[in-house]
Amino acid sequence: MHLSYPFILKILENLSRGAELKPFSTAAFMNSTRFPVSRIFSLFSRSLSPPIINLLFNSTLPHVPSCKFSIIAQFSSSSSSLPPPSPLYAAMETQVGSSSSSRWRPMCLYYTQGKCTQMDDSIHLEKFNHDCSRDLQVNATDSDKKCSQDVDFLLVLDLEGKVEILEFPVLLMDAKSLGLVDFFHRFVRPSKMSEQAINKYIEGKYGEIGVDRVWHDTALPFMEVIQQFEAWLTQHNLWKKEEGGCLACAAFVTCGNWDLKTKIPQQCIVSGIKLPPYFMEWINLKDVYLNFYGREARGMMSMMKQLEIPALGSHHLGIDDSKNIARVLQHMLADGALMQITARRHPESQKVEFHYENRIRAPQRRERRL
Ligand SMILES: [Zn+2]
Repeated sequence: MHLSYPFILKILENLSRGAELKPFSTAAFMNSTRFPVSRIFSLFSRSLSPPIINLLFNSTLPHVPSCKFSIIAQFSSSSSSLPPPSPLYAAMETQVGSSSSSRWRPMCLYYTQGKCTQMDDSIHLEKFNHDCSRDLQVNATDSDKKCSQDVDFLLVLDLEGKVEILEFPVLLMDAKSLGLVDFFHRFVRPSKMSEQAINKYIEGKYGEIGVDRVWHDTALPFMEVIQQFEAWLTQHNLWKKEEGGCLACAAFVTCGNWDLKTKIPQQCIVSGIKLPPYFMEWINLKDVYLNFYGREARGMMSMMKQLEIPALGSHHLGIDDSKNIARVLQHMLADGALMQITARRHPESQKVEFHYENRIRAPQRRERRL
């Protein structure tokens, strides 16, 4: 859906009276006469409280009820992608709770990186989720289909960034209880790109979903992220630097082979570091899915659709995608799937060996990654 230029001016006029308005230039709006609602929404979504935006659209767009409804609905979930309005979503709502305090909210991306300074601000707490396990609640402890796993913990990893890694989210899941144990989330600053290229890259990638500012505020070079990640692994007794080698009692779970087969080794070369030994093997959830259910799913969204799991959050925001992949993983574990290593890199030849005979081999049209 698009809004016309006079409408946008009216919106900007009204917004300019709000104290929390995020700085932006109206000049960007002069080059075109129509703009996607999602773009306008993303500019303000993380800067305004719901009452302000409700008042705004109630007062400026009285003749466009469907438009008004759409914007407010999108805002109330504070996400660029709404979960599908299916009976499953309704079921999820019931499960999560239906009061306003328990409705779905976007994660505070300062909090996920240990940098939230507004934990005593009730408006902030009402607007953003500060409990990463919230979308990962399961009621599968008594599932009799669950099987014994080779590892105690599964590390769901879903990188973002095509030219260089921009986001590094990892969710530590208990393979037995299926619950979230902890998480590690960092935005990553490219090391070989100019400031101008980074700004353009981030605006294109994260500006759309309104998280470009938090990215600029928090992103760290890949090398630092890896050092912090190793300290986090050690803290959880999953790996010891002095011993090297693979993870202890844990395995990475990714959606496809791209993250660990291609992107991490590429980024290590760009950042001038040796490929850490714990990145040598992983579980490609799509291969396990294919062999367990006997049907093909080309990506996270296809798996979710087939398993009737509603998507939550913003697609291509790494932390949200990781949570959605973790929800697919929980579903598969509850159904009795055994999570086994599907690919291993030979430490000397660096050649990757795939362990499943039956796997998705055809060249895939990768989901867009900027
Ligand atoms: Zn916060």
